[in-house]
This record gives sequence, C-alpha cells and structure tokens, in this order.
Amino acid sequence: MTPVSPSYFDALYEQTDKMVKTLCEWIAIPSVANENATDGTPYGRACLRMLEKIEEDARALGLCACRNFDGHVLTVDLLENAPTALGIACHADVVGAGREGWRTDPWQATVQDGCIFGRGASDNKGAGVSALYALAFLKKQGLLHKNIRLYFGSDEENGSACLRYYQEHYERPEDMPPIIVPDAGNEIVHGEWGILRASLSASLSQGKGASLLSISAGEAMNIIPGRAEARLSGVSLSSVNEAIRQVGKEGLSAVEEGDTVLLTATGKSCHSSMPSQGFNAALLLLSALCRLPFSSETVAVLSTLYTLYTTPPSFIGQLLEKACLTFSLTGLFFKDGRLSTWHDSRYSYSVTARSIEEAIEGALGASALFASFQRIGAPHLIEKDHPFVMRLADIYEECQKEKATVTEMRAGTYASSLDLGVAYGQFEGGNIHGIDEYLPIDCLPKTAKLLAYTAYRMAEEQ
Ligand SMILES: [Zn+2]
Repeated sequence: MTPVSPSYFDALYEQTDKMVKTLCEWIAIPSVANENATDGTPYGRACLRMLEKIEEDARALGLCACRNFDGHVLTVDLLENAPTALGIACHADVVGAGREGWRTDPWQATVQDGCIFGRGASDNKGAGVSALYALAFLKKQGLLHKNIRLYFGSDEENGSACLRYYQEHYERPEDMPPIIVPDAGNEIVHGEWGILRASLSASLSQGKGASLLSISAGEAMNIIPGRAEARLSGVSLSSVNEAIRQVGKEGLSAVEEGDTVLLTATGKSCHSSMPSQGFNAALLLLSALCRLPFSSETVAVLSTLYTLYTTPPSFIGQLLEKACLTFSLTGLFFKDGRLSTWHDSRYSYSVTARSIEEAIEGALGASALFASFQRIGAPHLIEKDHPFVMRLADIYEECQKEKATVTEMRAGTYASSLDLGVAYGQFEGGNIHGIDEYLPIDCLPKTAKLLAYTAYRMAEEQ
C-alpha cells in the first residue's frame, strides 16, 4: 500500500465536536474505584458502568471486537484474527473530586474558554476518547492489516490491580504487545519511579483534659491534602488560637462549636509525585496540634509524626536533596481512639523500597506508632536506546514536526506494570488530581492524530 503522511490523520479534527460530547458523557460517570466494593463488582458500580459505556461507544463507532474481562479491563480490538502490533492502555477510573473548591461541577463537564472542565478530563478520560476515535478512524479507513488493541482498566489510580488481574488470568505480561500509555503528557517516558505507600497508626488513650475527638485529612493516598480538620474537646478557643499564633503560618483557623473546638487547616492539594506544587494541610494541622495540651502520649505520637515529615532521618534527607525521592504525608485520621496516616513515596532506580521502610521504622523508634508498608510498583525502566523507545521518538518527530523528549518521571502509569510499556502520546491539560481539572479541546484531536499515526506506523513497519 502507499504510505500515508501524518497530515492524512488531520481528518480526525473534523470529529472534535463528537469527541467533546463523548468526553462530557464519560466525565458524568464518577468512576472512582473502590477496591472494597460489596456490590459484586470489582471496583464499584460506577467503574463497571464506565467500562460498559466505553464498550457502547466503541460499538457505535464500528469497533465491535470488545471484551470485558470481569469488570477489571475492557479491550477493544481493531482487527480480530490478526497479530497485535501495538497496544494503547488508558485508565477509565479517576481520583475523587474532593469536597470543595471547584468552580464547576466535577461530575458535570463544563465547556468554557476552549477547555473541558471536569474530573478525568485530562487524567485519563480525554486520552481514552482520543484513542477510541483514533481506532475508529483506522477501522473506517481500512489502513491496517495488523491489530491495534486498546486496553481500558478500572483501578489505575489505586495501583493497577485491574491490570495485574488481567495479566494473571488472561494475557501474561510477556505475551502482551508493545504498549503505549497516553497518560503522561507528550513526552516519551522511558522510566517511571517506584511507589511505596505506608500507613502509620497508633492507639491513643486520652486523659481527662484536652482531647482529640476526630481528625480528618486526605482524599486519596496519592494526593497532598488541601484541607484538614480536627475536632477537639477540653480545650478553650483561646488556647487553640494561641497555638495557631505560635505556628505563625497562614491557613489555620479555629471556631467554637458547642463545647468543642473545630481546628481547620487549608493548604493546596496536588499530586503526590510533585509535592512542592501544593501545600500540605495535614502537616499544617499537625504543627498546631503538637502545641496543644493533650496527654503526653498523644503529644508524643503527634510530635513524632510531625518530626518525621519536617526533619526526616538523614538518609531520607539526603535522597530528598538529590531529588530521587518524594516523602509525603497524604492522609491523617483519628477515629474511635485510633490515629492513622497515609504515606506516599516515589523513588528512583538508585533507591530500594526496603531502605525507605527501614528509615521510617528507625524514625518511629520506640514510639507507639506502627508502620505497615505497601509496595505499589517497583521502578520501571526501558532503556533510552531500546528500539521501541527510539521508534516512538522517530514517529513523534514525523507527526509533530518537533523534537521528541525522552525522559523519566516520578508518577507511575500502567507502563510500570507492563514488560514493554512506555508512557507516550498524550496532549494533556492541567490540575490533574486537583480542583478544576481541565483539558483544552484541541488536545482531543491532536492526541487522536498522534495515536492513530503511531499505530499506523507501528503496524505497517514491523
Ligand atoms: Zn492517569
């Protein structure tokens, strides 16, 4: 067949309005995964509904080779009975929207100023819509003789259990095709950091005086909390205000409610892979709580936690200085006499998860805090000069007429769970995982064009 140039795929721009409509419909499904769902679905009704909706839309676009793998993963194939040249993996789940601060309804997409606002617009439903329209375009044109397979998973934001289930039951990692993951902007990401999560917890027996009734901070384990609050009793508003004054930072306030005091910390939420972009409200809350006259046991636990994050052990401090680690408190809770936290660390290849765990355990020492760890993903690396990475760089440069950037990043995508996975091919918006997440409308056809062209090149030149 005669080779086609990237401009051939400009026809995808004619479908922009349809893509916008589809994305708005996808955003309206609040597909926040719940791994403890008790309704018989793996991640809750909304996540299952989301996969069903994608399948309906795929079929309506002429892509009928769809298969739903027990609510974990949906695949959409371009051609059945043909070898698969390339996979494109997107996630259909999203992080929660948080409680407040949005200018628009996060679950009701708003089109404004050339952008679509709503949870998932950029991470990752927008790219999913682009991938679907790209595949439908390839199908309609009948260009390819090899298959391209889209994968849509339901549990990426919590650590990709969906993909592990799929690999254990249906397609082993070594049998999967090379896969691009349009979930990390338009760079080519050949390396992703590992993710270590932890929960620190302690039972607190409180005396008769000042005591904690509740603490609540944290939306998800991978979000720096933008808001935190604690309800206190046995303490006067004036002594709480004095503690706030001693901290000397903006964002703390207290009000009396009945015979309790509500202490609130307001910061700025952001993705935990880039903690410096936000301001941690849970830590701010802790800084004030440490100064209140709770029982000595309670103060000791709160202070140990505060110190861990503000003056971390020297091993951790050195890694932070070398910028090969993030070390974030992403949740702080107190309920029924039990204090618990969420911790999120991202780490480079030069670091092992065990060394971070040991440093945390060392810092807790003999305190009442107990740490439990969860390794979400080991660092992922496909060498820069791997043929797949170099091929993608060539294809990107042909399509975009600009130099491709090959880089590594702190966040993990599906690529980390794949033998040959590279995050690539997404033009993204902003405020990912934060409030007012958005996607510029022109990213939809731009991403679709890049994905379609990449699929075409990968299929025809193997
Ligand atoms: Zn994502």
